[in-house]
Amino acid sequence: MYALTPARCNLPPLRRAPCRQAASTTTTSTTITTTQNPAALGRRAAANPDYDSLRSTWQHRAWTAAGTAAVLSSLSASASLAASDGASYAPLVVSAVAAYSLADLATGVYHWLVDNYGSPSTAVFGAQIAAFQGHHRVPATITHRDPCNNLHALACAAAFLLPPTDLALSAAHAPASAHAFAATFAACVVLSQQSHAWAHESRRRLPPAVLALQAAGVLVSRAQHGRHHRPPYDTNYCIVSGMWNGVLDQYRVFEALEMVIFFRTGIRPRSWDETQAEWREEDVVDAATAGDDADSS
Ligand SMILES: [Zn+2]
Ligand SMILES: [Zn+2]
Repeated sequence: MYALTPARCNLPPLRRAPCRQAASTTTTSTTITTTQNPAALGRRAAANPDYDSLRSTWQHRAWTAAGTAAVLSSLSASASLAASDGASYAPLVVSAVAAYSLADLATGVYHWLVDNYGSPSTAVFGAQIAAFQGHHRVPATITHRDPCNNLHALACAAAFLLPPTDLALSAAHAPASAHAFAATFAACVVLSQQSHAWAHESRRRLPPAVLALQAAGVLVSRAQHGRHHRPPYDTNYCIVSGMWNGVLDQYRVFEALEMVIFFRTGIRPRSWDETQAEWREEDVVDAATAGDDADSS
């Protein structure tokens, strides 16, 4: 084994405050506009001063619908192409499984990037960076979000990127399995925020089917993702199934990339300097979820 981070090599730490400050005030890309009486919003809402920002707006629903339509259109193109060719559906299934696996890796890379680099003022990704920083400060908040509120950002990306991808594949006369790969990859990336939310949810609130899928490793487990929210806050970034977390962490892939970036640019990832002990997830689990998190430690 080898130690890569300068902090562990006794290089002096460099404190950067802006993102942490942003995390204390921003938990989502949505503007916080609490106007209702928290006492009237029920126990879970009362525990959340940012309650209104966790609800879905019509824009959230519209983007989620657009992303869903793009995925369904791509899947339809794949199925109709396979039917017209009279080909076996086996390659489609193989492509879908491969896409599901690579989507887990992709979410890990993206999560690592927004956790560690950029700021809320970064172009395009600033809102996502702020949201992930806010998530680290108050992890359980994600379980209070409405589904479209939670999924709309990635659904928006799918709505923009998947149709031109399908057009390019069609223009290149790509096989049906290529469309199946694109559609499944997009669907898994969009839904990664749902599997992420489930990884923070209390066992008693999760449907039995979700618990079974988490136990089987089909969805990232609460125990595995819980380790991402424990010091040193630099492991287990993948949030679809978590199948890549073991190898990425064992071989310190992200740590090696951080060193390459640091020695080439001088930019330090936030995980070296800006994590805080109070980010530990068990400290922010509300009273309703406390006491049943034996598998998340
Ligand atoms: Zn994170
Ligand atoms: Zn999380």
